[in-house]
Amino acid sequence: MNIKSVRGVHDILPAEAPLWQRLESAARRVFGAYGYREIRLPLFERTELFARGIGEVTDIVQKEMYTFADRTGESLTLRPEATASVLRAYIEHGLHVQPKPVKLYTMGPMFRYERPQAGRYRQFHQLDVEAIGEDHPAVDAEVIGMLVRFFAELGLADRLALHINSLGDGVCRPAYRERLVEYLRQHAARLCAECRDRTERNPLRVLDCKKPECRPVLDQAPSLLDFLCDPCADNFTRVRAYLDAMGIRYVVDRRLVRGFDYYVRTAFELLTTELGAQNAVAGGGRYDGLVALLGGPPDAATGFAIGMERVVLLLGGTTTPCPPAAFLIPLGDQALTRLLAVAQEVRERGVPIELGYGTRKLRAELERAHRLGVDHVVIVGETELGREEAIIREMKSGSQRTVRLASLGDELAALPERASSTGATALRSEGAAACEVGSAAVTSPEHP
Ligand code: AMP
Repeated sequence: MNIKSVRGVHDILPAEAPLWQRLESAARRVFGAYGYREIRLPLFERTELFARGIGEVTDIVQKEMYTFADRTGESLTLRPEATASVLRAYIEHGLHVQPKPVKLYTMGPMFRYERPQAGRYRQFHQLDVEAIGEDHPAVDAEVIGMLVRFFAELGLADRLALHINSLGDGVCRPAYRERLVEYLRQHAARLCAECRDRTERNPLRVLDCKKPECRPVLDQAPSLLDFLCDPCADNFTRVRAYLDAMGIRYVVDRRLVRGFDYYVRTAFELLTTELGAQNAVAGGGRYDGLVALLGGPPDAATGFAIGMERVVLLLGGTTTPCPPAAFLIPLGDQALTRLLAVAQEVRERGVPIELGYGTRKLRAELERAHRLGVDHVVIVGETELGREEAIIREMKSGSQRTVRLASLGDELAALPERASSTGATALRSEGAAACEVGSAAVTSPEHP
């Protein structure tokens, strides 16, 4: 019996990996320009961290966490998001003594027991950004600006819409919440079972329901924006003014709420119409009380998370590997011994080389060279070895020349990089292993 992967997880195959590398390097470049530094965090934490940090009443904590007892019986959880871990590390390592805001980013897999479908997985990846220790509304505008810049860097900015809202704070939200619950209870008969349940548990999230039968009631629901206290209203005006000043287009979306308890004031999402129901590519906002809630100083904070799978789906395409600069064909073990050393030396100079192992016939090796797409092969048989020579054959024309074995390394290093005409050099110099982005869609196991 073949063992298959678990439902809701997926492999990132070599043809897709260069797209992921492109995302990661764009993130490092863009976030770096705004002064963010990388932090790498464990994939599991004490369950308590997420229960406290995300909120006991949220869907994530109640239904979606991968929680297990380790051998000592301690309850641990695979991280469903990164913010709680970033803050745990921020507090644990005393990062709050650094100049504020402390700007951090991290990337990697997150785990949620959700119903898998296209664009929604149980193990998925996020790029996560947090600016901690500054409550100025300009920080919100700045991180949103950085998010937009990241997508511009990938050529995707025009395919996404930025939605923003204010969620108020501890002063104005309770009154709104009360009013909302009252309204939702009044119209409970026209809401789905999940909305009725959420009305009692987590009423703001009801606004998020996408079921058409609930829309008429939710579209008429009271809006938090009408309940904002003066400081929150002023804060929201300023965030918008800063965005305007940066030339960032947005939609004020009165129904935008977030899945976590901890957001206050600014909340935002980047939405696409291209991925069906999974329309959010990134989301974030301000969460001023959370650092203190987790036992740290009373530091304000703001941040966002980007869903990497969804970005990769938007980018589309798969990649084909760059051909190596040359394929070395030894005929026999003695020739192999020599060419293995030459390959080692040339690869050390950063030139990609493939090597046969001396056991196959020349014809079979030339066929392999053809499949690899190389322009040049090097042939060394017993005769060449006896003369301390090697044959360099150009595949396309079939023309051959003989060089000294002693200078073969220099000859190979000097071969023209054919890849440059296809743009592969640029990719190669970024450390990506692939040449061309084709038009075929990226496949993933959960796709219909
Ligand atoms: P959240 O942490 O829920 O605010 O999500 C931030 C972003 O992560 C979302 O906008 C999605 O792009 C992505 N995301 C969240 N959950 C999933 C999932 N189950 N599968 C794939 N991407 C996800």
